[in-house]
Amino acid sequence: MTYDAVISETSHEISLATQAFIERTQGLRIGTDADREATSGATFQSINPATEKVLGSIASGSAEDVDSAVAAASAALSSSGWGTASPATRAQYLFDLADAVEANREQLAELETLDMGKPISQALDDVGGVAAVFRYYGGWPTKLEGSINPVRQPYFGMTQIEPLGVCGAITPWNFPLVMASHKIGPALAAGNTMVIKPAEVSSYSTLLLADLARQVGLPPGVLNVVTGPGRTVGQAIVDHPDVVKISFTGSTPVGRRILEAGSRQMKKVSVELGGKSANIVFPDADIQAAAKGSAEAMWENAGQVCVAPTRMFVHEDVYDELVEALARETRALRIGDPLLTDTEVGPLVSKDQYVSVQEYIDIARSEGAHLSVGGRALDQAGYFVEPTIFTDVRNDMRIAQEEVFGPVLSVLRFRTEEEAIRLANDSAYDLAAAVWTRDVARALRMSKALKAGTVWVNTHGRLDPAQSFGGYSKSGNSRELGRESVLSYTRSKAVMIDMSA
Ligand code: NAD
Repeated sequence: MTYDAVISETSHEISLATQAFIERTQGLRIGTDADREATSGATFQSINPATEKVLGSIASGSAEDVDSAVAAASAALSSSGWGTASPATRAQYLFDLADAVEANREQLAELETLDMGKPISQALDDVGGVAAVFRYYGGWPTKLEGSINPVRQPYFGMTQIEPLGVCGAITPWNFPLVMASHKIGPALAAGNTMVIKPAEVSSYSTLLLADLARQVGLPPGVLNVVTGPGRTVGQAIVDHPDVVKISFTGSTPVGRRILEAGSRQMKKVSVELGGKSANIVFPDADIQAAAKGSAEAMWENAGQVCVAPTRMFVHEDVYDELVEALARETRALRIGDPLLTDTEVGPLVSKDQYVSVQEYIDIARSEGAHLSVGGRALDQAGYFVEPTIFTDVRNDMRIAQEEVFGPVLSVLRFRTEEEAIRLANDSAYDLAAAVWTRDVARALRMSKALKAGTVWVNTHGRLDPAQSFGGYSKSGNSRELGRESVLSYTRSKAVMIDMSA
């Protein structure tokens, strides 16, 4: 079955500021240098995935550039601007950055859309979320309290909370700004400095974010951006002896390598990795709401979402009704130019991703899954693949076990709650899960039984800065957002004083 083509008419006009930004070769942001060429002079091109045309050029950094960035970040730690800034001052920088993000919402969203293909409406939502994250973490510097401990006489014991030092951050391409905010917000709130490397295919928005940080007066060296390939720039950040913590979000294979390399040097390494989230619909659920909510979560960002509910388990009593509603929601999606304000599904981020997703569609067919909706690439320029639903999927098929990271949904059938739990937990990934039910006791039983770092009930994919998020096993080892994240950018120091002296 294919799509009812829906032609959109409302185009978002690219601002002059955005045009000027991409026309200029973008440099590294290191220390006082707001636009520095890579030491080697090398650049790489950003491709617009909706047109396959070159957007612009960006500096391609090296280990030498990482050295300079780490030196700037180390110097900022002891400078009067940051090293001795009061908690209230650090808080104000984060509040000001949140305001600047909001004031530049359109430009940040435009860059994201042009660079990685996310529909503009979704990119605008992302930017709103980024401002909320900075605002939330702006509340933390003034609340990071240590403790006075009930130690024996004649001692006075206390625990102080300290920043770690220079932190390295490496982010993926699917939510470039959001992922950057999840790392920059807590790191700066706790008094650290940072060197961040965005993914090559989506570097622009992080560069603009660093410019906004500079505009609000964040002292030079506190936030540095080195763009370039993972294997050189990313690796150099991981290996640098003065980088004390690495925060990585990306694929499981790269995360594993970073964890091994960082651990060898006794660094703190937090990794947020892939997922294959189960989405379970019970017969007592509001079936239309489950279909709508699941479709929204599944097709957001063309399925390139770590928590995308890619394994949908539907009770046999409501299977046909749910699949029909889901197919209806999916066929009505507006797919196409991500700059159109009502586009719901844009292109995949890159040619590699486009090829890989189509390979998975072929694999699913050859494994015997039933192609129910979509399944084709659009016959036009750009890396567009139709949102695709496979039904009659078995949980041992590759399509149900491997992270496709694209618009491909597997629907499976179950009979009992126990079977749903067993199937949902039969996965190498433990990132997130969702349950649709009106039965509170069942919702509680399921949220306890499911092997996942987040369980949503009657919703999917909702994050809030105040609630931590993350997976375990192959999905990662850490939490982002909330209190847990800011504490992960600190260390404790015990101080014991002999009061009899
Ligand atoms: P990726 O692992 O290919 O790349 C992520 C980042 O790592 C990029 O900046 C890349 O340049 C860098 N990198 C690559 N090789 C490196 C190396 N050897 N050393 C250091 N850095 C290196 O991932 P991706 O394709 O950009 O993103 C998609 C993946 O991210 C998916 O698996 C998705 O599930 C995951 N993801 C997870 C979360 C989460 O919170 N758990 C959120 C978003 C994305």
